[in-house]
Amino acid sequence: MEIAVIGGGASGILAAITAARNGAKVTIYERCDRIGRKILATGNGRCNYTNVNAGVGNYHGKNPEFINDAINNFWTIETNSFFAELGMLTKVEENGKAFPYSLQASAVLDVLRYELERLCVNIVTEFEVENIIKEKNRFSIKSYSGMKAYADKVILSTGGKASPSLGSNGSGYQIAQSFGHKLSKLYPSLVQIKTETDLIKSLKGIKLDANVLLEAKNKKSIYFGEVLFTDYGLSGPAIFNVSRLCADNIDASVTLDILPEIDNEELYEILKSRRTEYRNLETFFVGMINKKVGMVIMKYAKVLPFSRTSDTISDDEIKRLCDALKGFKLKVTGTMSWNNAQVTAGGILTDDINSLTMESRLCEGLYLTGEILDIDGDCGGYNLQWAWSSGYIAGLNASKERENA
Ligand SMILES: Cc1cc2nc3c(=O)[nH]c(=O)nc-3n(C[C@H](O)[C@H](O)[C@H](O)COP(=O)(O)OP(=O)(O)OC[C@H]3O[C@@H](n4cnc5c(N)ncnc54)[C@H](O)[C@@H]3O)c2cc1C
Repeated sequence: MEIAVIGGGASGILAAITAARNGAKVTIYERCDRIGRKILATGNGRCNYTNVNAGVGNYHGKNPEFINDAINNFWTIETNSFFAELGMLTKVEENGKAFPYSLQASAVLDVLRYELERLCVNIVTEFEVENIIKEKNRFSIKSYSGMKAYADKVILSTGGKASPSLGSNGSGYQIAQSFGHKLSKLYPSLVQIKTETDLIKSLKGIKLDANVLLEAKNKKSIYFGEVLFTDYGLSGPAIFNVSRLCADNIDASVTLDILPEIDNEELYEILKSRRTEYRNLETFFVGMINKKVGMVIMKYAKVLPFSRTSDTISDDEIKRLCDALKGFKLKVTGTMSWNNAQVTAGGILTDDINSLTMESRLCEGLYLTGEILDIDGDCGGYNLQWAWSSGYIAGLNASKERENA
């Protein structure tokens, strides 16, 4: 059985290894000059390859429950065993995020490459697939440069549109669509958020931990974590995690609770007790929060001018400062582009895919894996987990001989 895997990213590599272990003759066709470029960039070069707490609640799309069969068949425990067998030591950090022990993404790619080599998987690089046609029981695969290849089965693992410089330029969508598959609206996710910037310009480069609330239409997303102020708006893991709701939503807003561990009443008392003639408004928050952030909070709450001594702050102004610290709200003006996004939200609808095998219901012998599908995960190892799982299932099932064949 000859299997062509289109795309040498995380899901394609897992599919290739699994199919080859099951006896298939496998070739990976990759548009870049090498496979696995995106893996090297993951987790800031450390590759957060899974999250041991991953569950269906961490995934989005029209039908996130589609992943339940993957959860039951090849999920985090199996992924960890898979990498352990390849000789990779791992460590689990906060919130269940798992990394190679060396904290080098190259460790993940290296062990995968050695296994591909051991299994004699053929790797053809600089082969960008333009179209695939099924002729009788065989697929004919044509590249943009006019080269042709043939296979009994095809696993389409071309990724989404996020970070095209790392390979995934969205060209796989039209291949899937040519077989009748439907594509939902696509938008960048796990991406920086653009906001109104007048007030926060001076905060560029400052990081803080906050409870982030993103509100868009009737939807809300809340996440606690690091927020980075930038010249265009907000970045950082907490922002990435709520960014999904921004797409398409011109009326979105983001609200930061800068002191989530202190409740309003306690904060009100703390602020009241800080009023003294020795501190002016500019230094009122010093020792409590970042001085520049404190000054922006003063402006936001309209407690000015800075030259006032803090013993002149009225109870009403203290209340306004509390509200500003617990609810610093900015209007969202958009997100950064595909070049900055880590993941694609939206994709090929899963209705026409068999979740037990990853095979297309529209074309026998065609399998789809990873980010090309309408499944996207939160930030924290969930997207690679989906890539490994869907790749494994597709590789296993594509390499099975059909009973009536
Ligand atoms: C900067 C960054 C950091 C990330 N960090 C993490 C992280 O730490 N943890 C996590 O879980 N997720 C992370 N992600 C997300 C995760 O990397 C992806 O969700 C995952 O790699 C998707 O796997 P995939 O196999 O579906 O697609 P990809 O990994 O994108 O692979 C697709 C492959 O197909 C090739 N290709 C595309 N079109 C064609 C074509 N027409 N012909 C031939 N080849 C083609 C591409 O060149 C590419 O090699 C990160 C993403 C980015 C961009």
